[in-house]
Amino acid sequence: MGFEKFGRKSYTAQTKVAEFVDRLAQGEICATRCRSCGRIYFPPRADCSFCLGDAMEWVKIPETGKLASFTRVYYAPAGFEADVPYTLALVNFGDVKVFGRLSSAVEESTIKIGMDLKPIVLEMPDGQITYEFIPVEECGR
Ligand SMILES: [Zn+2]
Repeated sequence: MGFEKFGRKSYTAQTKVAEFVDRLAQGEICATRCRSCGRIYFPPRADCSFCLGDAMEWVKIPETGKLASFTRVYYAPAGFEADVPYTLALVNFGDVKVFGRLSSAVEESTIKIGMDLKPIVLEMPDGQITYEFIPVEECGR
């Protein structure tokens, strides 16, 4: 599967980390870890910017992280205009922080720094695949 299947709108078809999309399609949200120095990258990288090694392995993002920061988007980039307003979240999973969208089902007034969030894979009606965060309490929905 090519990287063009990733996200609500993808501007890139070719990348060395296209396997990310295949893993998403199987329900796994993954980062890459450098086999030489252990650093973890999200978005996944094929090369380590710290030790310049290219021996990377895929690692699954942990089940639960904590909201580190967020912002509300009212003016969207091209391709995302129909979605505003939406919330972008930075979620801390310990060894790695993951940036992504908070579920639109989450009331803005209930968003709190430090809240537990879980990443889930979303397949959209047009076949695009992405992920977003939901509060841990809502995982059973
Ligand atoms: Zn490295």
